[in-house]
Amino acid sequence: MFDSQALDSFKKSGDIVARLRKEVPGIVKYGKPALQICEGLEQRIRDFGGKPAFPVNVGINDVAAHYTSPPGDTLTIPAASLVKVDFGVHVDGYVTDTSVTICLDPRFEPLAQAADEALQNAIRAFKPGVKLSEIGRVVQTTITRFGLRPISNLTGHKIERYNIHAGKSVPSVSAVGMNGTKIEEGEVFAIEPFVTLAKAQGAVTNGSSAYIYRFVRPKGATSEDSKKVLAFIQTNFSTLPFASRWLEKGFPREVGKRALQDLIRNKCISAYPVLIEASNNPVAQSEHTVLVNHDSCTILTGQ
Ligand code: MN
Ligand code: MN
Repeated sequence: MFDSQALDSFKKSGDIVARLRKEVPGIVKYGKPALQICEGLEQRIRDFGGKPAFPVNVGINDVAAHYTSPPGDTLTIPAASLVKVDFGVHVDGYVTDTSVTICLDPRFEPLAQAADEALQNAIRAFKPGVKLSEIGRVVQTTITRFGLRPISNLTGHKIERYNIHAGKSVPSVSAVGMNGTKIEEGEVFAIEPFVTLAKAQGAVTNGSSAYIYRFVRPKGATSEDSKKVLAFIQTNFSTLPFASRWLEKGFPREVGKRALQDLIRNKCISAYPVLIEASNNPVAQSEHTVLVNHDSCTILTGQ
């Protein structure tokens, strides 16, 4: 259970997310640099008094998750694309997490609608005593009704202080074995159905690149530079995910790049590979963070 100060921080964090969700449709346009979307939104989070809980993710078409702009990124939003902007805010370590899907071509709209409706139905069913596998069934049923398919190996997640993936998962399919794990009062969860086409494989696979990392352990860095970079990571991001470009505030680009390689090799940090739909079909996503009450849940991140 969170105390009232923790709940205030969650609420403050969620209010920032709710305000910024409304800005997303206006900032995702054909030709817009992804780097500008990431840095612009991260700056807006700070302007409102929060901190980014993780780097802003810009997922285009079959890129489902974990793409953030690397330093000097030249990627721009393609014409007629499907774009997911996934972002989170933390206030004192209390994280709220959300995602908005923007369709730059009307043919993608059913995917986004299915994700939104699956999320709304999941939220309606989300209360203490309900099995998380039941939420998966609700999500899957909703998406299937649209003639579409959920991504089976991406899930929502329980949130604790400075811990975005705190054990319990929220599946998007009923078949995933949850061992009867139930929702409990006072817990905070991010619920996030991902939707693809019926003909798709319906699963994500690791891409070859990673631009997001997380601190793992303080010992093992070999060079003086990587020790300094690791200390910077621990001080500034704690155990929350960070972007390689965030190191540029403290270090020249080449120093940061070499240090990240050394720190991964020595298991001081871990990398999150970009996640891509296995059959390269488009993916939509809808996400809110909720607080579980006595007999329902409250959306922390807007409507
Ligand atoms: Mn998210
Ligand atoms: Mn999430």
